[in-house]
Amino acid sequence: MSLTLYVDSARFRGNQHLTLGRAPTVVPVAKGNGYGLGNARLAEEARRLGVDTLAVGTYDELPAVRDLFPGALLVLTPWRPFGAAAQEPDPRVVHTIGRIDDLPALLQRDPDARFVLERMTSMMRHGFSAAGLREAGATLAAHPDARLEGVALHLPMGGASHLSEVQRLMTDVVAADLPTHTIWVSHLTDHELAELARSWPDYTFRPRIGTDLWLGDRGALRVRATVLDVHPVTRGEVFGYRGRSAPKDGTLVVVSGGTAHGIGLEAPTGASTIKARAGAIARGGLDAAGFVRSPFSIGGKQRLFAEPPHMQASMLFLPSGSTVPVVGDEVDVRVRFTATTFDRVVFD
Ligand SMILES: *Cc1c(COP(=O)(O)O)cnc(C)c1O
Repeated sequence: MSLTLYVDSARFRGNQHLTLGRAPTVVPVAKGNGYGLGNARLAEEARRLGVDTLAVGTYDELPAVRDLFPGALLVLTPWRPFGAAAQEPDPRVVHTIGRIDDLPALLQRDPDARFVLERMTSMMRHGFSAAGLREAGATLAAHPDARLEGVALHLPMGGASHLSEVQRLMTDVVAADLPTHTIWVSHLTDHELAELARSWPDYTFRPRIGTDLWLGDRGALRVRATVLDVHPVTRGEVFGYRGRSAPKDGTLVVVSGGTAHGIGLEAPTGASTIKARAGAIARGGLDAAGFVRSPFSIGGKQRLFAEPPHMQASMLFLPSGSTVPVVGDEVDVRVRFTATTFDRVVFD
């Protein structure tokens, strides 16, 4: 009765060990929906992997992982003197500081606080300018006991190499004369990390990795929805919330998985150009009837929504002649793991 994520544990963990082998200083990231697996599960996986630090996205995510992962907990969202960040001091938490005023504010509240300084990158999300980082360095010179644990750089994904940008940012780090030699980075390739290690042998680079660590072997993950009901319909028969009529004879298949799970409409099938759409209408295709492609596959074919997904279930239209699944069967679903909430995650 569920939208279920089935995990092949051996392959899932095999990919984690491969990643650890390539990047021994890896910092696993557990944030948001836990990449579909849930942050609590990821915290347990990180403990099993034996890494010393786990990164979470926000302060609100700490309670879900705190008791499951025994090491340091790096919070990626910058610390602010208000809201969830202004919590009880915790010696395992490593804060991210990205504004000059936040540094004395944090140290005043918790002189033993552990933190990294974030240097702004071409992402332009958070962090210090080169001058800001130097100012932070000067502030820290007056706090010799402060527990600076590194400099953080958050780089854009993919595209051209980020090596020249990181090289330039590293000169800013050196100029700030900080009492740390650890650089926390994201979205660098193995090759780029190796190049940086060669260029800056005194520094340790620690890649924060989520997607490639948890979702790097898609073959380890299979998403299936339960067939909840099956109704034959004849052409013209009315169904659904919107009382639309069946464009031809076929079968309505009700499957688990709806908007609450993050199941959404996809682009209309093929007919994106006026010409293609005219052709579809001429053929009397289902897409011409306004049916939209769903992420559910039956009989190896991606099927059409009979109407937009409901909160926890979806109605699909199967044209006559297709093999109709039976209630209780499971069908494959294609999802974006970072945007899907599963009813169950099953490890074999
Ligand atoms: C999410 C995030 C990461 C990990 O990104 P992936 O693409 O999932 O590997 C690294 N650093 C920061 C700051 C992030 O927010």
